[in-house]
Amino acid sequence: MLTFACQCGNELHFSNTQCVQCELLLGLIPDEQRISAFTETHQREWLSVYNGKHYRPCKNYTQHQVCNWMIASDDTNEYCKSCRLTEVRPDIEKGDNLRRWFLLEQAKRRLLYSTIKFNLPINSKTENPEAGLGFAFLEDIEEDNYGNELTVKQYVVTGHNNGLITINIKEADHARRIDMREKMNESYRTLVGHFRHESGHYYWDRLINETDKIDEFRELFGDERLNYEVALDMYYKNGPIENWQNTWISAYASMHPWEDWAETWAHYFHMVDTLETANNFDVSISQTVISNPYVHDEIQTDYQIEESFTQLFNDWCRLTRVLNGLNRSMGLDDAYPFVISISSLNKLRFVHQIINKFNNDLKS
Ligand SMILES: [Zn+2]
Ligand SMILES: [Zn+2]
Ligand SMILES: [Zn+2]
Repeated sequence: MLTFACQCGNELHFSNTQCVQCELLLGLIPDEQRISAFTETHQREWLSVYNGKHYRPCKNYTQHQVCNWMIASDDTNEYCKSCRLTEVRPDIEKGDNLRRWFLLEQAKRRLLYSTIKFNLPINSKTENPEAGLGFAFLEDIEEDNYGNELTVKQYVVTGHNNGLITINIKEADHARRIDMREKMNESYRTLVGHFRHESGHYYWDRLINETDKIDEFRELFGDERLNYEVALDMYYKNGPIENWQNTWISAYASMHPWEDWAETWAHYFHMVDTLETANNFDVSISQTVISNPYVHDEIQTDYQIEESFTQLFNDWCRLTRVLNGLNRSMGLDDAYPFVISISSLNKLRFVHQIINKFNNDLKS
């Protein structure tokens, strides 16, 4: 993730809406993937200080302050590229739901920042009913027990189905997420992690399923035609496979090849985004700069793709060693509680190849 400079020189971050120094309103221009300061020319049209063009703020920006993305003035949509994908939003009249919705949309925009960087297709279900992407932010249905405590009548399961990503809005509550993390014996559980994971299922359908990549996928991850329901039952009954660390990136990845792919995909997103942030802050370790995992403008040879992955992985190992060391000094849990086995490394390399080769195809 990049930081940006305001016209006044102040440092701006991805989710900022106003510059604390010059007080100009801010918005992210999705096609440029950068934050700009705006001078408000009149209510609906804002002038970008960055490129001198006019934009409209997303309706969710002006109405509910849950978004900070802009819409080009010749685009007739009321909602930005990200909010357009939200099919079901929480009932914001209820309790803490507006705050939860804000956090969900923010995590979604972080996911989209990466998918835009990788040039992956992003179409809403209105634009492409067959292969479009949508999000439903749903809430458990609760029942009032004789006016006392609420009990859950129907749970919402976070997951992906045919382009629709459902997220249980309680995942936006820090305490509940930590509680779930403990219960599920996980070492890492974040909101952005959920978005990245579920997007993995969506892009598996776009980039792997019924393509010439399927054989290589099966060699690395196993045969996804394995009965999913049975695998799920087994996982929750018996727990993860013993010594899962030797083969999988997380315990959950051992459940089924689809989950293995989604976990690996999410992990790749964590790596690229964190490395970009480190690079943006000019982080050097032992006098060597952490490089930005770059999506190249030119067609990449297999050798170049392989080399860029080696660089990415080496930088990642150097950086995470430091991150964990810093956290331990502060008495915090490891920032990066993972060990990457050879098998996981090969799967991460495959994700890197898939994204780079997809970009090659776009250019040829
Ligand atoms: Zn400023
Ligand atoms: Zn928006
Ligand atoms: Zn999954």
